[in-house]
Amino acid sequence: METDTITAISTPIGEGAIAIVRLSGREAISITAEIFKGKNLNNVDSHTIHYGKIMEPQTNEIAEEVMVSVMRAPKTFTREDVVEINCHGGMVAVNRVLEIILAQGARLAEPGEFTKRAFLHGRIDLSQAEAVMDLIRAKTDKAMSVALKQMDGRLSGLIQRLRQELLETVAHVEVNIDYPEYDDVEEMTHDMMRVKTKEVRAEIEQLLGVAKQGKILREGLATAIIGRPNVGKSSLMNTLVQENKAIVTEIPGTTRDIIEEYVNVRGVPLRLVDTAGIRETEDIVERIGVERSRKVLKESDLILFVLNYNDEITDEDLKLFEAVSGLEYILIINKTDLDQKLDMDKVKELAGNRPIITTSLIEEEGVDELEKAIAETFFTGDIDTGDMTYVSNIRHIQLLKQAKQALEEAMEGIEFGMPMDIVQIDVTRSWEFLGEIIGDTASDSLIDQLFSQFCLGK
Ligand code: GDP
Ligand code: ZN
Repeated sequence: METDTITAISTPIGEGAIAIVRLSGREAISITAEIFKGKNLNNVDSHTIHYGKIMEPQTNEIAEEVMVSVMRAPKTFTREDVVEINCHGGMVAVNRVLEIILAQGARLAEPGEFTKRAFLHGRIDLSQAEAVMDLIRAKTDKAMSVALKQMDGRLSGLIQRLRQELLETVAHVEVNIDYPEYDDVEEMTHDMMRVKTKEVRAEIEQLLGVAKQGKILREGLATAIIGRPNVGKSSLMNTLVQENKAIVTEIPGTTRDIIEEYVNVRGVPLRLVDTAGIRETEDIVERIGVERSRKVLKESDLILFVLNYNDEITDEDLKLFEAVSGLEYILIINKTDLDQKLDMDKVKELAGNRPIITTSLIEEEGVDELEKAIAETFFTGDIDTGDMTYVSNIRHIQLLKQAKQALEEAMEGIEFGMPMDIVQIDVTRSWEFLGEIIGDTASDSLIDQLFSQFCLGK
């Protein structure tokens, strides 16, 4: 196993002012000790923090005031010796410290290499490793708590339990086939097999059922604001951005720092990106017609449809109603500070069971109600975000679908009265798909590819 010492800047989540340089490997402690002015780090206890200064060993020049954490293997994230150097002086100072460490013989870590080592040393499984990446990119507290749960192994635990059930079923069949003379082992009947596969399939289905919410938490809700010109779309956008802290996503250490505009509305990340021009749509129906605009609008997860309280319903409004019918939208009646000209009964009829919120954006009225409605659209009663095991990762979702498919094929075989040793082939496939989620049956190239997606420094 690799034991050379790697290093990178790894900035912790939510603490922009402090930057951390992390080292892991056989010489992590001795390299740091060489350049550290303070206690002799070679002799300190594991899991202790020390104040001191990093200096340029050739010139003895002080580079930065730091706090250094020393953690000895194996009780560390990578299960190697790990040192974390907390710098306060911003990016310039931190880069300087990194350069000094590199000059001492550490190697710059590849993206995801710390996490890869943790995985290779058996410290975490693959789904947990992926959660580290989600955590870095998490846009809201809820998204972060999903990632944290995954990291502490909840999804893995569940997957392992499902695999165990499938494995026991398969083993049972094997015993029946290999030792037909064992009378005390009950024969795995088609009925028993049917019950088992059904149970596991139901659990997989449940996981897939909440996958959409998980994905939204991770990636943000693609949101379109639509309405006729002048109804207040831009004002709505500005209000949402100002009221709710815009979330800036930066992936540290990469050259292509991705910066997108997200707003966090009560834990729901709205993604106000301009995909296919749906961010703010004035004349989409005019431009491309009802059918095609429906197609475009379907790509958004949420539509905020604005009407003017101070105006009668127009043909254009009716076309918009047509375009959004059956989609996830919230109707916003704006400009309630002005005289009513809008036929509210007619509006209610058109909106059916969709939520209607009245606002005066100019007087900042109704905004709370709107935010509540947005949050409720995605966290409705039966979805308990506090306790759910979310699946938010596309790779996991695909594997779950494949595992489910294989179980369904097994169930078909059972209905057709196929022999058990044939049915169990599908059950075994399902077991393998589940295994890929946690990295049990994942190939080396998959692992390399996954870890290379990680951010530098993790
Ligand atoms: P858009 O064309 O749909 O993007 O509409 P804008 O947001 O640009 O707003 C059009 C005009 O309506 C601007 O002059 C706004 O100041 C005004 N406006 C927006 N919201 C309200 C409101 O609640 N009440 C009143 N009286 N005016 C508003
Ligand atoms: Zn506008």
